[in-house]
Amino acid sequence: MIDFRSDTLTLPSKKMLETILTAPLGDSGRLDNDGRGGDPTVNQLEDLSCKLTGKDRSLLLPSGTMGNTVALLTYCRPVDQVLIDTTQHLYKTEKVCFESNFGQLKPVFYHLTDEGFPDVAEVANAIETQNIKLICIENTHNSAGGTFIPLDVLKEIRKIADGAGVPIHMDGARLFNASIASGLDVKEICSYADSVMFCLSKGLGAPIGSMLCGKHDFIVSAAKTRKLMGGGMRQAGVFAACGIYALEHQIQDLKKDHERAQQCFELLKGLKKIKLPGHIQSNIIILDVAESGKSASEVVEDIKKLGVWLSVSSESHARIVFSRNNTDSQIAEAVEIIRSYDASL
Ligand SMILES: *Cc1c(COP(=O)(O)O)cnc(C)c1O
Repeated sequence: MIDFRSDTLTLPSKKMLETILTAPLGDSGRLDNDGRGGDPTVNQLEDLSCKLTGKDRSLLLPSGTMGNTVALLTYCRPVDQVLIDTTQHLYKTEKVCFESNFGQLKPVFYHLTDEGFPDVAEVANAIETQNIKLICIENTHNSAGGTFIPLDVLKEIRKIADGAGVPIHMDGARLFNASIASGLDVKEICSYADSVMFCLSKGLGAPIGSMLCGKHDFIVSAAKTRKLMGGGMRQAGVFAACGIYALEHQIQDLKKDHERAQQCFELLKGLKKIKLPGHIQSNIIILDVAESGKSASEVVEDIKKLGVWLSVSSESHARIVFSRNNTDSQIAEAVEIIRSYDASL
């Protein structure tokens, strides 16, 4: 089975796991007056994350969902309005911040342009006409097909936010993919957001963990929110060690994922019923299967029987994701299977 479901399927290598054995450990949930925990390996990972993102302070969380949720619940209080796009992971998949029985935040929506990045005019209009407390952006954008936010768009959103004194939270689950795809330094990308969350557990290949990075006082508050949510951890250095290994050795490997995705994309061109996007930018290809007369979950089921496992992105879209789990030889094989399936539709 060729598995293209997600970059969350990546497994830790032996070398990565070996770093656990020598990692100094402590109680990371026991915070000092400055909000820092007592696990030296977690602290080392947090410092490394600050260095890479250019932010004052960082916080380790067990998941990206908790990272985003902690960020939003630190910035906002119930019924505060949060500007977000309709297809953002934070809204579409996580939702907890916006549930009436949990976060109780109110979403105000902007849309993405056809290219897959925030419609700046809509962001400006919402900021002008509504009482927005926080702007959320996603980079790279998962359901838009792994698109990065171009520098000029980041700059314009920053300008709008500064004009109104509204902070920006970036869901950078795939921040390092955004950096590689755009050629922009991670630090530069992060400089346009007040806070950024990135996942160690996706393409970077660590088993567990996401980082929330931002200004000193914000992260000190966020550590309190994390505790309230049950995210205070003890000897978390056990998996923080893997995160350090991922950041020190595996960032550049993401390039390979992008190259394979691009190669697969080129080879898939000219399908009959399944529609490809105009171009791709990182490790994700979203297939539009509307013309097949089947739902995306039916198409995914069919193709799985033939030996290629994709995931469902929406009712009419399937998703191919490349990760370090995949090999060059899988590309031609998968393309042949998808081509013959398309021809049979
Ligand atoms: C995966 C993902 C998350 C959530 O991360 P988890 O660790 O799975 O909770 C958030 N945002 C985006 C864009 C993601 O792809």
